[in-house]
Amino acid sequence: MAKDINKQYEVIIIGGGPAGLSAGLYLSRARLSSLLIEKGLVGGQIVNAERVENYPGFPEGVSGLELTRLMHEQATKFGLETLLAEATSIELRGEQKIVKTTEGDFIARAVIVASGSERSKLGIRGEKEFTGKGVSYCATCDGAFFQEQAVAVVGGGNAAITEAIDLTKFASRIIVIHRRQQLRATRILQERAFAEPKIDFLWDTVVEEIEGEDVVKRLKLRNVTSGEKSALDVAGIFISVGFQPNTAFVKGVLPLDTAGHIITNEKMETEIPGIFAAGDIRKNSIQQVIAAAGDGATAAIYAEKSIRK
Ligand SMILES: Cc1cc2nc3c(=O)[nH]c(=O)nc-3n(C[C@H](O)[C@H](O)[C@H](O)COP(=O)(O)OP(=O)(O)OC[C@H]3O[C@@H](n4cnc5c(N)ncnc54)[C@H](O)[C@@H]3O)c2cc1C
Repeated sequence: MAKDINKQYEVIIIGGGPAGLSAGLYLSRARLSSLLIEKGLVGGQIVNAERVENYPGFPEGVSGLELTRLMHEQATKFGLETLLAEATSIELRGEQKIVKTTEGDFIARAVIVASGSERSKLGIRGEKEFTGKGVSYCATCDGAFFQEQAVAVVGGGNAAITEAIDLTKFASRIIVIHRRQQLRATRILQERAFAEPKIDFLWDTVVEEIEGEDVVKRLKLRNVTSGEKSALDVAGIFISVGFQPNTAFVKGVLPLDTAGHIITNEKMETEIPGIFAAGDIRKNSIQQVIAAAGDGATAAIYAEKSIRK
């Protein structure tokens, strides 16, 4: 997928999740030369979702992988170009924007940052050491390695409970460890998880250490109300405790909120003329596919206006 270094595009999109893909569709249909830069798998975080049931038009639900494969196919059909590379910084040269990447520099008149977020880490002993050896951040990717074994899921939000439910296909027992007394996940997910005989819950509990030899064997736990310590034997631990915005490469260029999200107005414009942001990366995003796709469309429309004015 080699591209001409220093090739000029009208718009460069950073990030190939639903926000970037939808921006790419609108830009290519507007006949603007557009390059989408993606550092991992085109599709973004939603490729981890076995079944998306809240994106309109799919009454039976659709896998996140298939949904974004279709989005990419649709945008590519209208002329969107894709580059597999990591954007490392954006430089301003007059009205031009230089996007520096691991595959060279690319020039654009407008940039849409749609780089989403990544899973937060627990930051405990054993987490780094056993990543890929029982510690995972993606049940869809790694669940099948735990056939008929006991695994833990850490977290209480939508992503954690979705993962726990997905894991019932493989694991013999799933223990959801949550530091509070109640889940934050949406009611329909809670109902499914509570009705699932393979899923148990450990409330008011945190994981303090992950132990093992070559692979994960046990978790050291602490009850946050009683202070009582315990151990839990598991073969795997799926960590789903929130997300970190992928904005390291725009620090110092774009204003960010305290959590690192990009601040935009309702046109998805940032403080820098010609740089837009869309999707989960935005301050106050509801972090859903439909919102990301909507943001991408809005950013594309206002990027087009800024170029054609
Ligand atoms: C397990 C799980 C289940 C979910 N289920 C649902 C659901 O059922 N319904 C729903 O609406 N939402 C769901 N979500 C949330 C949904 O996935 C996100 O809201 C959505 O993907 C956000 O899209 P985005 O395009 O803003 O960002 P992302 O999907 O995060 O995409 C950003 C992309 O940018 C890339 N990137 C980051 N930095 C760089 C860089 N420097 N250079 C190049 N590329 C970069 C990343 O690799 C990534 O592909 C789920 C999320 C998870 C994790």
